Amino acid sequence: MTANSKIKIIAPTPNGKQLAEQLQRQLNATIWESDDRLTDALPKLWQTHDRLLFVLAVGAVVRLIAPLLQDKTRDPGVVVVDETGKFVISLSGGHLGGADELARQVAACLDVEPIITTASEGQNLPAVDLLGKPYGWQLGGGDWLGVAKAMTRNQSIAVKQTCGFREIWQGRNIEFDGEMLHPGEPPQACLWISDELPPEMTIPCAAWHPRTLWVGIGCERNTEMGLLEEALKQSLKARNLALESIAGFASLELKRDERGLLELAEKFQVPLKFYTAEELAKIPVPNPSEIVKNAVGTPSVSEAAAIDAGGDGTTLILEKRVFRDDRGACTISIARSPVEHNPNLGKLYLIGTGPGNLAQLTAAARQALSRCDAVVGYKLYTDLLQPLFHPNQQILEGQMTKEVERAQQAIELAKRGLTVAVVSSGDCGIYGMAGLVLECLAKGGWDGKNPDVEVFPGITALQAIAARVGAPLMHDFCAISLSDLLTPWDVIVKRLEAAAAADFVVALYNPKSQKRTEQIQTALAIFQNHRSPETPVAVARSLYRENEKIEVTTLDRVDVGSIDMLTTVLIGNRSTFVHENYAITPRGYVVS
Ligand code: SAH
Repeated sequence: MTANSKIKIIAPTPNGKQLAEQLQRQLNATIWESDDRLTDALPKLWQTHDRLLFVLAVGAVVRLIAPLLQDKTRDPGVVVVDETGKFVISLSGGHLGGADELARQVAACLDVEPIITTASEGQNLPAVDLLGKPYGWQLGGGDWLGVAKAMTRNQSIAVKQTCGFREIWQGRNIEFDGEMLHPGEPPQACLWISDELPPEMTIPCAAWHPRTLWVGIGCERNTEMGLLEEALKQSLKARNLALESIAGFASLELKRDERGLLELAEKFQVPLKFYTAEELAKIPVPNPSEIVKNAVGTPSVSEAAAIDAGGDGTTLILEKRVFRDDRGACTISIARSPVEHNPNLGKLYLIGTGPGNLAQLTAAARQALSRCDAVVGYKLYTDLLQPLFHPNQQILEGQMTKEVERAQQAIELAKRGLTVAVVSSGDCGIYGMAGLVLECLAKGGWDGKNPDVEVFPGITALQAIAARVGAPLMHDFCAISLSDLLTPWDVIVKRLEAAAAADFVVALYNPKSQKRTEQIQTALAIFQNHRSPETPVAVARSLYRENEKIEVTTLDRVDVGSIDMLTTVLIGNRSTFVHENYAITPRGYVVS
């Protein structure tokens, strides 16, 4: 199941249609439109779609799908939303069918709480059978139900991981000691994460297979796909390797039109890479061949192609094997890449979360948060967003002064194919993380596409303070940060002087911290030189948060002691006035 898997919206009633159209755009889904009876059409839709979203009474849906339900590994995910869009229910196929995920997305579109009743969700635990999906891992066989049960019962689970991204337990609501989940007692189940197949065990065991294996293939012209497939399977078996861990196939440029190879890649739904003879000739291999060199210009095809395809640090784990029968002849080699291949394209959402209260978060940002695999942000903000997170997301909290590390971490995860949200309070592009992330990407030679970047605006502190005190930003205004950590103080002073002289309404961000106490005094003194002592000033701390404190005062009366790093100070211009505690800056209309 991927984010863009096939979703069909089924809304047989006129009222439901409207809602369906609204959701269609946001979910990239299609709407079922037909004169057929739904009971006749549904068996086909059941087969051809990954997820079905009904806009219908839940009872009617239960009756409709009852004859079609088979088992949770094959059934599509089913989500039901009522005609008014108030309730979203993940009905069946919660994990493997992707219904929980879809319910969350629909709920985010409609700004309601999804009804999700799968066991791991209730306890806020990650679902073992969804865990590897963001990294492009493939579900292997085993006793998934047994492992999931051990998880929801908080029993110890041994984690045997031989390849793939290691930091999957970071930022999750679960204890992991490097070997065991819920460590303590002897393991009651095993989660096997490897490109090899698991051994027989007495406890329930289930396998995830990261796509680390690059298979190099050389073949005679017109070798049939059947032989290639058999050769591949035998080669994997020789090393106890999992078919699901195949990252892709690689061969010689000359083979770009080799039918059997193309069919094989199509069948396994994996990429097929080609290299020129010159490229392959450069790769040191254990079994070079003079005959091959004379024939195609490189002493190795399959070994060299496998190593080349895996990238830096790739090692050959199965040396060339030759297969020949009346269907043709081929060589197979297998290499292991240290980084798993992930067919998902990484995304970075740079999200402004507004001043604090979740009601001030945009619907678009909320939806983006529900779609991401990992969230990177400063703890104060991730704490505020906590109610929106779900247990299959990694919440990676960074420290206040480690912004560059945080940006790099997010980029690293996105490069691995994850959808990663970087959150900043207010607007993420105003003294936030958005610019830094883009700067790091640009410095790293980013092509503008991978990872894909989307920026979500948020309500910044100056808008928040303005809204709380009236309408002081009705004329030209600017923002100045008093923090000299990243900007030299003399530059800040110049900007303060210029803004004061030009009669801008000014919002002062980062006015004061425990160590920086002088700057706000200097700033206020500069404004006093240019504006009357009665100029309205708003001082607001923790806007839209629990301990919000707002004071509207005048330039000569500002209580500097009440200002700290959670405060924004807004200084009116020469025409700003206060009426009944509302600060108003005239726009210039003639008002009688
Ligand atoms: N990206 C944020 C600004 C981060 S700089 C935004 O767009 O709002 C941090 C400064 O923002 C703080 O020192 C304070 O001046 C201001 N600030 C952020 N959130 C605030 C809030 N809820 N109440 C008051 N000031 C806030």
